[in-house]
Amino acid sequence: MECGATAEQVRQVLETLGSAGVRAQVQDGAEALHILAPHASKALKPDRLETMGGVRKVVPITSPFKLASSDSAPGRTIVDVRGVKVGGPGLALVAGPCGVESRDQLFATARYVAEAGVKLLRAGAFKPRTSPYSFQGLGLEGLKLLEEARAEFDLGIVTEATELETFDAVERTADLIQIGARNMQNFALLKRAGRSEKPVLLKRGPSATLEEWLYAAEYVLSEGNRNVILCERGIRTWSDHARNTLDVSVVPAAKALTHLPIMVDPSHATGRRDLVIPCARAGVAAGAHGLLVETHCQPEKALSDGPQALLPSDFLQLVHQCRAIHAVLREATVPTGLAF
Ligand code: PEP
Ligand code: MN
Repeated sequence: MECGATAEQVRQVLETLGSAGVRAQVQDGAEALHILAPHASKALKPDRLETMGGVRKVVPITSPFKLASSDSAPGRTIVDVRGVKVGGPGLALVAGPCGVESRDQLFATARYVAEAGVKLLRAGAFKPRTSPYSFQGLGLEGLKLLEEARAEFDLGIVTEATELETFDAVERTADLIQIGARNMQNFALLKRAGRSEKPVLLKRGPSATLEEWLYAAEYVLSEGNRNVILCERGIRTWSDHARNTLDVSVVPAAKALTHLPIMVDPSHATGRRDLVIPCARAGVAAGAHGLLVETHCQPEKALSDGPQALLPSDFLQLVHQCRAIHAVLREATVPTGLAF
């Protein structure tokens, strides 16, 4: 819309789109107000809109990802998670145990996570497990403990929603709602997440292509939630030395296609403590906006994902090394006289 477009002109455009059966969204950016109208050209001729008062330009979005594609936004999306900006120039760190197991375990881990300067604590209260006989999480009790941890350590809470039945409860507690790899194409769950006021962390499915992943993000965006963060967590390959294979190149590939922020989870990508720090470093070097890392105060006693949980001292190493790599990438410039 034109800079000086009135609220009434915006309303008229929305009404025209609405009566043609197009679901439009208003994006009120710092520099301009955009109306995003996926597939509007199927219902209306562009000049029908272009001649309306207040309209500056009708720009066709050629990408199939009408809301996720880079050309649907003026710049990169920055998602604010309780004050932590994901997608901007900083490196966003999210850490914690795989699951909430007890107050003692959660608080002991949260304490050193906070001491390392990390502002977002992640732990599952509802755990999607490969075997039905494995620890399934503490459920609602786990959510309560996460709320206590937020108050005690001033940490934002990241936790997973695994099903529609418990979504509301997870949504109330979470500052960032995780949708797990196995649920990446659970379309009912994605649509519910799209109707949430809370930001969403969308993990990549274990065998999903980048295109399938972006369509999954599109499900969330098309319901009105613009705050989606992608998270690469390793994919299934024939390589059998690790749980999954970290797809490092998907980081720059995704950044070229979408304005959404992208994080890397080196813990589920490897399943092995000794591979987590090198893969975290690789993720940051490839340009990830943040990391999601599992750490446990006593990994040998963990009820899930113990073998990949970093010890407190290793976790501190990871934080320092990854921040250093990130700073180098931000600051490194070609010395004068060496430019071609
Ligand atoms: C987790 O984050 O603990 C988890 C189960 O991850 P993913 O969905 O990536 O397997
Ligand atoms: Mn886990």
